[in-house]
Amino acid sequence: MNLETPKKFRALVNQAHQVAHNVFRPISRKYDRAEHAYPKELDMLASVLDGFNDGNPEGGAGAAAASKSGGGNDAGVKNGANMSTLLGTIELCYGDTGLLLTMPRQGLGNAAIAAVASPAQKERLKGCWASMAITEPGTGSDSANIRTTARKDGDYYVLNGEKIFVTSGERSDCVVVWATLDRNLGRSAIKSFVVEKGTPGMEVARLEHKLGIKASDTAVIVFTDCRVHKDNLLGSEEINVEKGFAGVMETFDNTRPLVAGMAIGVAKAALERTRDLLKEQVPLDYDTPVNAGSAAAAELYRMEADWEAAYLLTLKAAWMADNRVPNSKEASMSKAKAGRICNDITLKCVELCSSLGYGEGELLEKWSRDSKILDIFEGTQQIQQLIVARRLLGKSSSELK
Ligand SMILES: Cc1cc2nc3c(=O)[nH]c(=O)nc-3n(C[C@H](O)[C@H](O)[C@H](O)COP(=O)(O)OP(=O)(O)OC[C@H]3O[C@@H](n4cnc5c(N)ncnc54)[C@H](O)[C@@H]3O)c2cc1C
Repeated sequence: MNLETPKKFRALVNQAHQVAHNVFRPISRKYDRAEHAYPKELDMLASVLDGFNDGNPEGGAGAAAASKSGGGNDAGVKNGANMSTLLGTIELCYGDTGLLLTMPRQGLGNAAIAAVASPAQKERLKGCWASMAITEPGTGSDSANIRTTARKDGDYYVLNGEKIFVTSGERSDCVVVWATLDRNLGRSAIKSFVVEKGTPGMEVARLEHKLGIKASDTAVIVFTDCRVHKDNLLGSEEINVEKGFAGVMETFDNTRPLVAGMAIGVAKAALERTRDLLKEQVPLDYDTPVNAGSAAAAELYRMEADWEAAYLLTLKAAWMADNRVPNSKEASMSKAKAGRICNDITLKCVELCSSLGYGEGELLEKWSRDSKILDIFEGTQQIQQLIVARRLLGKSSSELK
């Protein structure tokens, strides 16, 4: 395995790094304070990203580009859209996670559309900014338990239910909504529907106030007799007991490494800033045994090693997705590890820098708040560990809960 950034993606990584420094960081604090205000500075950047993705059939950036690729080149292996999206995500979250999450047309719903929509649906939904609505008041980790219903009525489905914590739920153009066709048929009856903003019966009820990623809006959306044309159902209308839920879950094999990438990006930012702030008092010397240096230096070495392990696990999960190697276990491993280390690293950096770390004069305190969500959404750390255990032990979700 070659651990260097693939040559063809170096320009993209460099551009994303520049955006992180020159676009995201300067407005980071502004939108942390102005929760729910739309970062209008991102519109121009989103257009540039669209152009970049359109011109890159096998590479790209942003959630919409992930899962485009597959297959191999002459050598039998390749780095494609999952790898380039991951590398871009790491750099952009080195800038600001909340701002990346609110980039137009790069929502989680876009990743779902890229993964499961038919070619006709993809064409029709091109350019649509899509958020993803799974979570409900009584259902989070146990997503097979959702209660939002979709009742067939001629050429339409009628949606009823409440979705909470929808990232970009207010700003996106459409929402990919999970609903059940028949609760008695269990998880295989769960389907996803694209509901366009303005559809009668769909209402954004309120926005949440949060600990971190305040630049990203998080909405509660209520569906009351909301009629959606059957062409907006993603995937097959059939209830296939064998495949049903597995189909919608496959989206996560592409998106979990991206959330891991967000964690790696914010942790990289915190580590770099801490090393810089402490360089006079805590010099790092990689030739000296750890126990001959200071305790603070030992903490930094430990965090660097943890960061590297998370980074390599995540590269592997994305590489497998690009090469169509089943990667559920590796995607969950990367998400669990990266979520944990980014929480640990960002908080430890606040601790090592103490008053500097805790004050608003630095972004360290913000990064420690922003990082917590990366260990929660797209499946909590505990749920990722459960998935890994199931895969290792060959157990189903009903056998190991
Ligand atoms: C800012 C933010 C943005 C979000 N964005 C979206 C979005 O865009 N779309 C969307 O659909 N959802 C979104 N979510 C919801 C998120 O995915 C859920 O919060 C998450 O899945 C956890 O669900 P829960 O909050 O109901 O916690 P619960 O599922 O109730 O879990 C509570 C605790 O119990 C643990 N736990 C649960 N089950 C087990 C188990 N079997 N074994 C061991 N431990 C377990 C969990 O790990 C967690 O620590 C968002 C949430 C937040 C906070």
